[in-house]
Amino acid sequence: MTFCYETIEGMRGKLASGAISSVELTRESINRITDLNPSLNAVITVNEERALDAAAKADAARREGNSSPLLGIPMLHKDIFCTQNMPTTCASKMLEGFVAPYDATVVKHLNAAGMVTLGKCNMDEFAMGSSNETSHFGACKNPWDTAKVPGGSSGGSASAVAAGLVPLATGTDTGGSIRQPAALCGITGLKPTYGRVSRYGMIAFASSMDQAGPMARTAEDCALVLEAMAGADPLDSTCSDQVVPAYSAHLEDCVQGMRVGVPKEFFANDLNSAVAETIEASLKELEKLGAKLVDVSLPSTSLGVSTYYVIAPAEASANLSRYDGVRYGYRCDNPTDLQDLYLRSRTEGFGEEVKRRILIGAFTLSAASYDQYFMKAQQVRRLISQEYEDVLSKVDVIAGPSAPNTAFALNDSSKSITDMYMEDVFTIGANLAGLPAMSVPAGIVEGLPVGMQLIGRRFGEVDLLRLAHQFQQRTTWHTLTPKMEERH
Ligand code: GLN
Repeated sequence: MTFCYETIEGMRGKLASGAISSVELTRESINRITDLNPSLNAVITVNEERALDAAAKADAARREGNSSPLLGIPMLHKDIFCTQNMPTTCASKMLEGFVAPYDATVVKHLNAAGMVTLGKCNMDEFAMGSSNETSHFGACKNPWDTAKVPGGSSGGSASAVAAGLVPLATGTDTGGSIRQPAALCGITGLKPTYGRVSRYGMIAFASSMDQAGPMARTAEDCALVLEAMAGADPLDSTCSDQVVPAYSAHLEDCVQGMRVGVPKEFFANDLNSAVAETIEASLKELEKLGAKLVDVSLPSTSLGVSTYYVIAPAEASANLSRYDGVRYGYRCDNPTDLQDLYLRSRTEGFGEEVKRRILIGAFTLSAASYDQYFMKAQQVRRLISQEYEDVLSKVDVIAGPSAPNTAFALNDSSKSITDMYMEDVFTIGANLAGLPAMSVPAGIVEGLPVGMQLIGRRFGEVDLLRLAHQFQQRTTWHTLTPKMEERH
């Protein structure tokens, strides 16, 4: 019997009834990674021994009466989370072989909940990208079509869940990196409110937007995992101390009369027409649930990408200055002096996209261009946040597409760097404004998944999760699987 496409909730029931043990589930996951990962490249580190040990401990804890909902469930972490005793590379040559001396808070929380970590997922280098092609360890593939990208930067996490390697992987989202890959791989992903989940031990890209979240099959599973991930952390001063709601207890709360704002700018020229039709059909499903669709406008949507690509690289250039070849990470051979050490370690250790961002950031932060670019971008960010706030004072949730297209081809030379940046045109606003947002499977276009995006009020994860959950009670998109093994 195979459990590979089972949800966390499903596995939980089978673990509780004794139909399967965590050691058996973990073995099945490891075998599946061994079989399928050569064609997916979704996982870049596996620690079998540690996983089986954790699984055995979870089984023992269960026998002693522990019934924590996540106990014994196998999972993977995006390789941006620091893990003790396991390498953390951020998919960069710069951190190849780096082993952190501590666990990220997210890792600690999920370990404490009894989850079994199998290893680490591929990603775009330092989380910069929308296709998982900037990884030092090679591109990750989309299980629905291995000639296509899984999206990025949490591409490995999305691919792993979609292929049934694990029911959960963590992701991070700075401009769309949980939602866009979740959409392209047909899974459910949630980017929480900025500050809901601790960033401690999560390697920094753009600190004012970076946020960790769950990538799983269903909203119900995301709710269970967010409950364990979220919460105040004395080690991250930007982490909120607001009480973490019991998200999973509110999934059935009534959505009758919920106002769902549909921004007209999300259905503009950038959107593929088949994707648009799919999203429109999903909006009708929300209406059938009793939600009220309201036309709204976010006029600055088209400014989001350019604003983000000033702010994110500026923050990245500051954050990535710590990789200097001295303290940790890659160091060049035989440096002639300190300058040479810095220069060559960074030149050789970072990939092209990361270097591009560092250069852009250093430029926009320089005295001569600060006012023109960085200050301006901060002002536009404020404007965009205000627009979202105004709209969300009239509606409960905003809905639209997660990404403008379905998964695109790997190594697509017709796609320019700015085309790639446009992948996040619908997701970036929620990051600039710090709002929670999720992507929910909403259809299939030419054999590839489409995701619907839901954006909520600050700390409004409860609304997103219950709307998504009830949508998933009416639809089957989240249950479709890519049939990897038939092709294999
Ligand atoms: N694709 C966007 C970028 O390249 C977003 C990345 C992210 O959310 N980490 O920056």
